[in-house]
Amino acid sequence: MIYQAGKCDVVVIGAGHAGCEAALAAARMGCETFLITMSMEHIALMPCNPSIGGPAKAQLVREIDALGGEMASNIDKSSIQMRLINTGKGPAVQALRAQADKREYYNEMLKTLLREEKLKILMAEVEDIEVQNEQVTAIITKTGARIECRAVVVTSGTYLKGRIIVGDVIYDGGPGNQYPAQKLSDSLKRMGLALGRFKTGTPPRIDRCSVDFSKMVEQPGDERLLSFSYLGQRNTRPQLSCWLTHSNARTHQIVMDNIERAPLFTGVIKGKGPRYCPSFEDKVVRYAHKEAHQLFVEPEGRDTDEMYVQGLNTSLPEDVQVQVLQSIPGLEKARIIRTGYAIEYDYVIPAQLKLSLETKKISGLFTAGQINGTSGYEEAAAQGLMAGINAALKVKEKEPFVLKRSEAYIAVMIDDLINKEADEPYRLLTSRAEYRLLLRQDNADLRLTEKGREIGLVDDRRWLAFQQKLEMLEVEINELKYTTFTPVNKEIADFLIARNSAPLRDRISLWELLRRPEISIWDFVELGLMTDNGLDIMEQLETQAKYEGYINKQLEQVKKFEKLENRKLPEDINYDEVYGLSNEALQKLKLVRPLSIGQASRVSGVNPADINVLLIFLEKKRRK
Ligand SMILES: Cc1cc2nc3c(=O)[nH]c(=O)nc-3n(C[C@H](O)[C@H](O)[C@H](O)COP(=O)(O)OP(=O)(O)OC[C@H]3O[C@@H](n4cnc5c(N)ncnc54)[C@H](O)[C@@H]3O)c2cc1C
Repeated sequence: MIYQAGKCDVVVIGAGHAGCEAALAAARMGCETFLITMSMEHIALMPCNPSIGGPAKAQLVREIDALGGEMASNIDKSSIQMRLINTGKGPAVQALRAQADKREYYNEMLKTLLREEKLKILMAEVEDIEVQNEQVTAIITKTGARIECRAVVVTSGTYLKGRIIVGDVIYDGGPGNQYPAQKLSDSLKRMGLALGRFKTGTPPRIDRCSVDFSKMVEQPGDERLLSFSYLGQRNTRPQLSCWLTHSNARTHQIVMDNIERAPLFTGVIKGKGPRYCPSFEDKVVRYAHKEAHQLFVEPEGRDTDEMYVQGLNTSLPEDVQVQVLQSIPGLEKARIIRTGYAIEYDYVIPAQLKLSLETKKISGLFTAGQINGTSGYEEAAAQGLMAGINAALKVKEKEPFVLKRSEAYIAVMIDDLINKEADEPYRLLTSRAEYRLLLRQDNADLRLTEKGREIGLVDDRRWLAFQQKLEMLEVEINELKYTTFTPVNKEIADFLIARNSAPLRDRISLWELLRRPEISIWDFVELGLMTDNGLDIMEQLETQAKYEGYINKQLEQVKKFEKLENRKLPEDINYDEVYGLSNEALQKLKLVRPLSIGQASRVSGVNPADINVLLIFLEKKRRK
């Protein structure tokens, strides 16, 4: 029996990483928001690796923070270890990575959601989305609640028709033995949306007490106190370590002896899995020449004995998982607490979305997260934030908020999803970005916080902190640029000798001096030439000085890129009239309907010859 259960502006379906960001963004932008999720105990669940960040993902988390999202603050409060990785490489690929206490991550996110004034949480399964004249009007739950709304954001993750596979044991289910969402896929199909099937997998969790750490290499956290959020709440509690071990020939032999029982190779698993998170059995088969694979044993939290075995994603039968584990140094007596498994689930083909993550077919219907064919907490959270923002802007009848590839990794990901055909779950990599030197983790606020303020998501506290940072940067950059020394300055001359750096030939500024690879900004602090303005500011100053030339070069490239991005395509263009397009390009352009020549050039299957045909067609139209 369906009953009228309420009315609001925005309904968000699912309280995973995407759903939490979407609901908070819509509520913080002033919309009455309902967050509906199947389990109150699994909000912001980390069903897989207990970590946030790493290359490209750290940049995403910082961008979410810069725009006023929540993930960065949440991991800062619940981290058990922080590390800066790729420190030996350039700033474009340096990345923060945190190990999370999964239970605390949940607690902190729940506290934040419950504190949000315009946000209501409901535990229920949404089975149907009501649509009238291609506009969403309400959602219906399994227990008959009808909630009227003006926009819906679907963030159902890996639950749509979820199917769990462990060897020959197969059953309908969601992550962590929750139940799957059986009906919502059918509702989306009834609206005319095309769905696909993907798969992902997770490793077994083992008991800390059954691990012999003396046979592993400790991976401690970074001594410096680091944080993801620009609001900088640093977690001062003691850090926990991870542990490195390796598989060996015996491990690989056990897998090969049981390969005919591996669902990945027996054809039981149909969905395509993430290339960059392959299952262990897949690695053993694909890289048969490798004698050993790295495995990291990571704590899942402070108050639990569960340890996550990173690198051992598997859907092998449980008895084989035990043998595999016990063949690994330090795990000879390992006891499984949770079995590794694979999960197959439905996802929405993202070419059906606009760059605002609204579906082209149904007005007011947005999708975000794993449902769009991505993999990863950070990728999901970033999409959730954008979909939540755009659902709120839709309700307020304002222009959608869309970022450019030259402004944010968020835009690189969404643009790739919509324009490039993906036959496997999409994971963000720094190599996917053309302008990665501009899209660093240290400058996301300089790129995005002002935009977050304009759309009404960046609150006063963050805005004030940002203004103060801008002022401080300006002062310090001027200091560095206008503080100069001549070759006769003995202190500087001695310092350069000590640093094995070339003597001065002419008057030079600190800024120019800082460009020298052997000189660090911390040297200037030691010399008393400047004060320590905190890691964030100092890192910013050093990167801007040392990479000024490269940064300017990329800014020039961006100018060229924007020329094509600003070459708009008419919304009502009839591609059947554009003679000379290849069949594939015609089919893809009609499906994606790109907004600009720039976007058209990135649609998979559209090649440069097709772009020329399009440009000639537009020119003829203009002349006519
Ligand atoms: C087994 C497994 C292994 C994984 N391995 C990896 C990996 O190796 N690397 C990696 O990067 N990522 C991995 N992931 C993916 C990662 O967990 C997801 O990317 C991330 O959680 C996606 O976030 P999301 O918000 O899109 O969805 P989820 O976190 O899945 O959250 C979806 C939410 O929607 C709710 N929901 C679903 N349907 C309904 C409905 N009809 N009504 C109400 N509520 C609903 C659910 O209760 C849940 O709270 C794995 C996930 C799983 C399950």
